[in-house]
Amino acid sequence: MRVMIESPAAPQLDSLCTLLSSCAETADAHWPADSLQRCAEEGVLRWFLPEDQDGLDWSEADLLRGYLRLSAACLTTTFIITQATGALKRIASAGSRELCDRWLPPLLSGERICTLGISHLTTSRRHLAKPALAARRAQIDDPQSDFILDGYSAWVTGAAHADLMVTGAQLEDETQILVALPTELPGVTVEPPARLVGLSGSDTGPVRLGGVRVPYSHVLDGPTTNVMQGATGAKTGGLQTSALAIGLSSAAIELLETESVRRGELSQAAAELAAERDRLTSSLLALAEGDAACSADELRAGANSLVLRATQAALAAAKGAGYAQAHPAGRWCRQALFFLVWSCPAQVLQANLCELAGMSE
Ligand SMILES: Cc1cc2nc3c(=O)[nH]c(=O)nc-3n(C[C@H](O)[C@H](O)[C@H](O)COP(=O)(O)OP(=O)(O)OC[C@H]3O[C@@H](n4cnc5c(N)ncnc54)[C@H](O)[C@@H]3O)c2cc1C
Repeated sequence: MRVMIESPAAPQLDSLCTLLSSCAETADAHWPADSLQRCAEEGVLRWFLPEDQDGLDWSEADLLRGYLRLSAACLTTTFIITQATGALKRIASAGSRELCDRWLPPLLSGERICTLGISHLTTSRRHLAKPALAARRAQIDDPQSDFILDGYSAWVTGAAHADLMVTGAQLEDETQILVALPTELPGVTVEPPARLVGLSGSDTGPVRLGGVRVPYSHVLDGPTTNVMQGATGAKTGGLQTSALAIGLSSAAIELLETESVRRGELSQAAAELAAERDRLTSSLLALAEGDAACSADELRAGANSLVLRATQAALAAAKGAGYAQAHPAGRWCRQALFFLVWSCPAQVLQANLCELAGMSE
């Protein structure tokens, strides 16, 4: 049995990151089963749960410190972990003893896998007249009736590997439910994952639900209006998205710093980017500790800007060699584009567009 990583300062986190980093190129293209299993064995998923649910109960700031390290080592594995822990936290906090007893032990050990398919309630398909995923009661007059789900969730990371998916659906009266949906239920179809610009190894793709009957015992929240509002573990614009962007920036900045030892002309750019990364990291941790110098959206916009510039600076410094497939700088550039589209609330999207258009907001 492996030793659990009990804090972000634990030396085992260094060795885990070295291992993840050595597999990061492959993980960008192929589902990183071994990296994920190793993370589970070293207790990474337990960081997010309280002790009375077999968790290690890390503080919000420590969780972000953990994410900063993991994402600098392997963005794909870390991104998959964000979706799994988002689902885990929702299951753990819903208060169903039956669901927790059945699912938490195998999910925490890595024997089973869970994921999230909730973006159709937050940042995806919101302009469509009809909800992407609709729910109705199997027995209209029974408040504890099972629900029948029809429709699809467009983006579900690792759907083909997942045993359980936390997803949401809208009822006719526009209230919403959040459910823990076993993927083996009749009527669940996992479509082939999309070939992506980066992070294809996350095996993200659509899941279609055709008359899927979800037992009432699997309802985590609702029916209520805006079930995602205030949801822990599964909301947009959370600090984790910024942590991953800053983490990926760190990988690129480290390459610049290493190169600048031999090439003095790179030193100033490396130092400027590192100072910006440090300022954003301080804001991230301050926000986690409730000491907000900026809003979460402002931080995210800053982190998006940094990750795009830092990864391209690493590519520029690596020159033609960096443009070869085998060099990490090109992969970092592709992966940095992900932050322009992942869980981006409207204000962040607007800030990104203003920056790209060279407009001051
Ligand atoms: C690699 C990857 C992994 C992801 N993993 C997950 C996951 O595991 N779980 C999860 O829940 N989510 C996940 N997401 C979803 C993500 O967080 C965002 O919700 C998603 O990227 C939003 O993009 P969309 O194309 O669905 O947006 P949409 O808003 O649906 O836009 C799609 C298209 O619709 C059109 N359109 C958009 N807005 C309008 C409008 N107002 N009027 C008219 N037309 C419009 C545009 O042509 C646009 O290209 C993932 C996304 C990616 C890229």
